[in-house]
Amino acid sequence: MFKQCKTCNKVFDDYLNMYESCPDCRKKEEELLREVKDYLWEHPGATEAKLEELFGTNHKQIIKWLREGRLEITPDSKIKLTCKRCGSMILKGMYCDDCASKINTDLKNAENSFKPESHITSMVIDKKHKAKMRFVSNDDEKK
Ligand SMILES: [Zn+2]
Ligand SMILES: [Zn+2]
Repeated sequence: MFKQCKTCNKVFDDYLNMYESCPDCRKKEEELLREVKDYLWEHPGATEAKLEELFGTNHKQIIKWLREGRLEITPDSKIKLTCKRCGSMILKGMYCDDCASKINTDLKNAENSFKPESHITSMVIDKKHKAKMRFVSNDDEKK
């Protein structure tokens, strides 16, 4: 299906219907993410303001990467991320471990009770799985 890129407004073919940006913008984003990751690795106490100054990343962008699990912060980081369910501090993703396991159980229960609609829950699981794989492959590239 054809979509308009959220970043540059170019129309692109997103046949899997899973992206918001065109391949060019996604590539740029990957490069930016790698730079930010490297910087945070060396400067764990960096603030969002510092990142914005150096890389032009805004709060929304940083949070998006963290929520997607593509970026991870350290416990002493100045950047704060909270669990969407209980509000406790987390280092990446949407939820803390406790909530994540509770939600997983809920998902499984939901899957069992609404079998025909289970494509919705399996899509969520699929996305999570993909995000994790991308994270692993990013690390591999560093070697
Ligand atoms: Zn674009
Ligand atoms: Zn939580």
